[in-house]
Amino acid sequence: AGVKGTTTERTFIAVKPDGVQRGLVGEVISRFERRGYKLVGLKLLVPSKALVEQHYGDLKGRPFFNGLVDYMSNGKAPVVGMVWQGKDVIRQGRKLLGATNPLDSEPGTLRADFCTAVGRNCFHGSDSHEAATSEISLWFGEKAVFDWKQALEPWIA
Ligand code: ADP
Ligand code: MG
Repeated sequence: AGVKGTTTERTFIAVKPDGVQRGLVGEVISRFERRGYKLVGLKLLVPSKALVEQHYGDLKGRPFFNGLVDYMSNGKAPVVGMVWQGKDVIRQGRKLLGATNPLDSEPGTLRADFCTAVGRNCFHGSDSHEAATSEISLWFGEKAVFDWKQALEPWIA
């Protein structure tokens, strides 16, 4: 996922089906954009069960795992997947989302501003460089991610 700590660092951010259904796609894009990050990948899809099981492989065996896979893949609404690029975007992206459980999310974060339940927390963000690399490859593949020149780059980098 690019080079960690540089302006080429990349993370995978997703708006989950509840977030898409509630019209929060633009809100996420807007917050990352105005922060200065660059959108280098974007897609709308209903992910297969297998994709979600792989994405959340670490959580297999947890009591909420099957419910989580169904929530993400049942097709009631799609997922919007994004790849964002910029300095420290992995950690900063997690900050913009806020804590996993909205009860613990700081006001001003996406999850605190829009969510109330850990099982319906609307957004995903990679939690490490390793996770970002595998999630971008799983959801996009290298060819579907496209770097480009940002007009404001000299001012924010
Ligand atoms: P994060 O999404 O912040 O990285 P985790 O990786 O711990 O958090 O969990 C992945 C997702 O699993 C969460 O975003 C949430 O949708 C779901 N989840 C986590 N814990 C619970 C729980 N106790 N009950 C229901 N769903 C949960
Ligand atoms: Mg996680």
